[in-house]
Amino acid sequence: MNTSTSTSSSASKDNICIIEISVGKNKGVNPLGKSTRRHIFSSLQSALSNPAVTAIVLTGGYKSKHFSAGADIAEFGKSDSNVGGDEEVPSLTSICNAIEQSTKPVVCAIRGVALGGGFEIVLSSHYRVADKSSKFGLPEVNIGLIPGAGGTQRLPRLIGVKRACDIILSGRMMNVKEALDLGVIDAAVVNNKESVEECAIRWAEYAAALGNIKSRQLCHAVVNKGGSADIAKNHKICDAIAKKLPPKHKGGIAAHSAISAIRASFSKPSFEEGMAVEEELFWDLLLTSQQGRGLRHAFFADRLARNTSGGGKNLKFPPRIESLLKTKVGGVGVIGAGTMGSGIALSLLRANYSPVYLVDNSEEGLKRGASLIKSLLQTDVSKKRITTEQASKISESLIPTTNMQDLSACVLVIEAVFEKLSLKQSIFSKLSSIVSDDTLLLSNTSTLDLNAIASSIPPNKNRARCAGMHFFSPAHVMKLVEIVTSSYTSPETIYAVQTVTQQIRKVGVVVGNCDGFVGNRMVFPYTSEMVFLFEENLVSEKGVKEIDDALMEFGMAIGPFIMSDLAGNDIGYAIRREKGLVRDPKTGLPGPNRPGRYTELADELVTKYGRVGQKALKGWYDYDRKIGKGRAPIPSKEVEQHIAKYASAFRKKNMLPSPPKKLSKEEIVNRILFPLVNEGFKILEENIAQRPSDIDVIYLYGYGWPNWRGKLLKV
Ligand code: NAD
Repeated sequence: MNTSTSTSSSASKDNICIIEISVGKNKGVNPLGKSTRRHIFSSLQSALSNPAVTAIVLTGGYKSKHFSAGADIAEFGKSDSNVGGDEEVPSLTSICNAIEQSTKPVVCAIRGVALGGGFEIVLSSHYRVADKSSKFGLPEVNIGLIPGAGGTQRLPRLIGVKRACDIILSGRMMNVKEALDLGVIDAAVVNNKESVEECAIRWAEYAAALGNIKSRQLCHAVVNKGGSADIAKNHKICDAIAKKLPPKHKGGIAAHSAISAIRASFSKPSFEEGMAVEEELFWDLLLTSQQGRGLRHAFFADRLARNTSGGGKNLKFPPRIESLLKTKVGGVGVIGAGTMGSGIALSLLRANYSPVYLVDNSEEGLKRGASLIKSLLQTDVSKKRITTEQASKISESLIPTTNMQDLSACVLVIEAVFEKLSLKQSIFSKLSSIVSDDTLLLSNTSTLDLNAIASSIPPNKNRARCAGMHFFSPAHVMKLVEIVTSSYTSPETIYAVQTVTQQIRKVGVVVGNCDGFVGNRMVFPYTSEMVFLFEENLVSEKGVKEIDDALMEFGMAIGPFIMSDLAGNDIGYAIRREKGLVRDPKTGLPGPNRPGRYTELADELVTKYGRVGQKALKGWYDYDRKIGKGRAPIPSKEVEQHIAKYASAFRKKNMLPSPPKKLSKEEIVNRILFPLVNEGFKILEENIAQRPSDIDVIYLYGYGWPNWRGKLLKV
């Protein structure tokens, strides 16, 4: 029988109407934009008005990999966004209500993601079946919103307040097993004997025969079966959870609103009154929250940065590269088994690249690197990220060697040896006679000139396959990779490196070649400025913590002094020495390349006091192995004395008076951030970054910029 009202809703078995969310062409994750909402709503209406239809199956589409990832957030902020409706386009809330109130049972057949509005549709249906690829969640808080189509009202009714809080406030995804265990779905299709749609049709036939839809409508369910005692208990649960959330002024607005909406699910006398609370909170966030705007900006900035080289269209790749990008098999190499190299190799292994050669010219260094990788894999096992079998399979893919010739068949090689140009050049030159001319040759240099590295490859040996792949430390944890282009790098190389970066679950941002690239170049004036404040006596000698606290209160993940101690003050010193900035220890002369203003306070911290950072338990702070595993910063008397002495000598020499007042927290933040922002503008001007939002992504993933603050360069 044909009850079809559009190309994608059709009667399949007897009296069951199938509505496919995906209209016409396969739409990827099936965002619930205007046309899709109109389509779902009208298909539902015609199924309801067709007397031959007894039940409805709602699916992402037979050819769709996904049910729906929810609202089309590109429509947010426009006058009639896709959550709200107008006369012609039904809102998501009215679609969910229409599904729930349907007089004929609606069964959702879920494959792939059912997120946000997609999950809210699922919650409104009467029965839910899913296949093993399915993932469920309400990630709205991640973009500064709360679920706005009943998610905060229906989910607590289905799985209880505590679990609903967990799902809604974390924005995390549930897999099919968890969804089944929690009763979010009624059945899971785990073998290949039938499709999820076939399973849903069976359930629809059963539901049509059974009747009694009311018992399956979550709007009639009660969160507090035990009455007022339960209400008090649920409030206590919410109070305890709310205490652990970030404060409202530090990115927590959406999460606190979500808790308020969840409270309405059990404290308001009716579903409709709870829905009214949710609606008000949702619109308030959408229309007024700066944090939400910041979070949505971060979301789009991230997507934009990942989309490299026109998405690879019209690019031609050598078959070996194409095959590596598809299968991850073919061989990759990492040269240098130190801090960075071992982390990079682990990232490749975790993403199932195979084989992964790890090369070091020191037997001892190689052993250390390989055993670090194995112990981190064991940690993955103990944290249940992978099974023991997976860990041993991954370990088998690791081939430690001291012989660079072993890389001959590799399709991609990442160099992570000491930061010395001549050494890197000799490695690239040697490599180009070992590997094929199409093998991607990448350097993890953090400061060196990539053109100089690429030009060590003979001109007839394809310099276009050379790029920088600048990981951040620890490389197996930090998500950011700056993909650095030399003047030789081809779009194919950029695209291939971006693909690999994403396969190892990192975020790649393409940047140009300059000293420090984007992230570290901007950090230099930032960390210089924090020390200038001491020279000018704008903060006291106790100000290390004061400055860190001010920046962390602003929202940075860590303060600049803690960051410096973590990275190693000696590393910063070595970089400044290479740049010709520090005082020559032999002659006592200042470095020849100093900018107009340069402070030696940080240099002396290393040269006079050996305060190289957390690894030595002394840097800008003291550390004690017995306190916070040696990672908790403790204000240091020695540093205070050093600052006081240095700063007063500086002022005396420069005849600077002591200022009448110290800076407020806000002034500290402005004073330290403005030079960083300023450097960002210079970077844009020089086309080192392609767009301002790329700089935001670099600071988000590499330096702990608070995503809810929005743009770093407010242009
Ligand atoms: P590291 O000192 O920990 O390791 C370097 C390794 O390279 C050592 O194991 C050494 O034995 C090996 N090596 C040296 N010469 C070699 C050769 N000829 N052949 C094979 N192996 C050789 O250094 P790291 O901190 O891992 O830094 C490596 C690179 O990563 C540098 O370019 C550095 O600038 C960059 N980087 C470092 C960080 C960081 O925070 N450590 C962050 C980003 C980038």
